[in-house]
Amino acid sequence: MMQDCIFCKIANGEIPTDFLYNDDSLVVFKDINPQAPVHLLIVPKRHIRSINDLTGADKNIVAEMIMAGKDMAKKMSINDSGYKLFFNVEKGGGQIIFHLHMHLVGGWNK
Ligand code: AMP
Ligand code: ZN
Repeated sequence: MMQDCIFCKIANGEIPTDFLYNDDSLVVFKDINPQAPVHLLIVPKRHIRSINDLTGADKNIVAEMIMAGKDMAKKMSINDSGYKLFFNVEKGGGQIIFHLHMHLVGGWNK
């Protein structure tokens, strides 16, 4: 838990949030400012600043995030129409929340 990190507070329940998925290692919730008909965030519970901070010990959580992205696309019925999974990395890459998260966006032309 990182002090003053909004995604740590969401992940540990300090900020009440509707989770579309929740397990021991990650949570999934709706982006507050959606950029697509479906816009979810896949967020590890453990605080990691960005993709730059990943180490070999984080391989499992990265794989779990991508599998959760795939599963949530199916759950939201956007798997066949198609979607994007992406990470913004550091300020120049558009990252504004410095707690690792993967975006799932889709639902256009369903
Ligand atoms: P990024 O630019 O990759 O850091 O994206 C951060 C995302 O988090 C943005 O799309 C924001 O709209 C979203 N966001 C910020 N605060 C919240 C919040 N409290 N609940 C849900 N999404 C949020
Ligand atoms: Zn955090």
